Amino acid sequence: MRSAEKPPLIWLNILLFLISFIIAAVVTPWYGYHFGYDSAHWIWLVIAFSFCNLSITAGYHRLWSHKAYQAHPVVRFIFAIGGAFALQNSALHWSSDHRVHHKHVDNNDKDPYSAKRGFWFSHIGWMLRHYNQDTYSDYTNCRDLQKDAIVMWQHKHYLLLALLTNIGFPLLLGVIYGDIWGMLLIVGVLRLVLSHHTTFFINSLAHIWGSQPYTDKNTARDNSVLAVFTFGEGYHNYHHIFENDYRNGIYWWQYDPTKWLIKTFQWCGLADKLRITPHLKIEQAKAKQALKNAMKRIEHNPEKLLLKQTLQHEFDQMMKKLNDFYALKKQLVEQKKSNLVEKYERSLLLMRYQEMKAEFKLQQKNWNAILTHC
Ligand SMILES: [Zn+2]
Ligand SMILES: [Zn+2]
Repeated sequence: MRSAEKPPLIWLNILLFLISFIIAAVVTPWYGYHFGYDSAHWIWLVIAFSFCNLSITAGYHRLWSHKAYQAHPVVRFIFAIGGAFALQNSALHWSSDHRVHHKHVDNNDKDPYSAKRGFWFSHIGWMLRHYNQDTYSDYTNCRDLQKDAIVMWQHKHYLLLALLTNIGFPLLLGVIYGDIWGMLLIVGVLRLVLSHHTTFFINSLAHIWGSQPYTDKNTARDNSVLAVFTFGEGYHNYHHIFENDYRNGIYWWQYDPTKWLIKTFQWCGLADKLRITPHLKIEQAKAKQALKNAMKRIEHNPEKLLLKQTLQHEFDQMMKKLNDFYALKKQLVEQKKSNLVEKYERSLLLMRYQEMKAEFKLQQKNWNAILTHC
């Protein structure tokens, strides 16, 4: 009775995911065992896999879905080809889904791949039936993208582009290297399956496994292991709170090749207007979440009443120092732009800035120390 209520199955997707998975898991190793693969197969696998995934992360996701930066038409064209190669629907359709995901995250009725419906649903299940079909198929949430000629060209010719890249490209490599079946299996099928599931992990695992340093208002998690497989998209907790930032891993040591690629494009004059979240907002979010976690840990312990008060006091101090420090920093930057400021005035402000910086660092230390006691 229950299955009758479910939306109809999408057989094309079911067969595509199932057959490609079986070929990648069974036929590809069997062929390798009998005929062997050489370095060209593996090198092209890495190139094609990276091309597909970066087209999704830097193109579909950060450029088109979130407008985190602007890109030259050449870059947009390359991403449109790579996105079709990744076989994840057109950029317009993908972005529409993704914008709904952010707007209604974890809402089982509205989020197209709500993680609250379980791993299977958020990973792949949502694509196997006609869920949500009526709610966003007109792309009203992507009016801006409908003005992008490359997005619309890719949307119109998506099927042809998908076939040309997924079959035509491995076929061409097969002719060049004298192993058509081998290249079709490695660069065609194995690359597709790896690319699919590593991207799908962002909707499933990145909402289940990892930490929540910025917010616990949704299920998104930060996970450095996942970041390696997803070209930096593993820092999903940060991404869900500051979705328009072109970075997901904001610290230099966080593995985010998508961010590095966008930055490289900027250096080459192929991207501009890279959006970043002000430090102040990031620090505020982190401190608020840390306070919430610490309060939760000590809330049922009556002996910790004093600790609770101290915690709240240190948090208030932290917020004050944060605001003062960043206000002064802003003042300093604005003053630098203006030529009218006297030299001594500037040196006074610089001194005040150094003092404030030291005070802020000390407060940060106190804050971290009190957190370890909770
Ligand atoms: Zn998400
Ligand atoms: Zn996003």
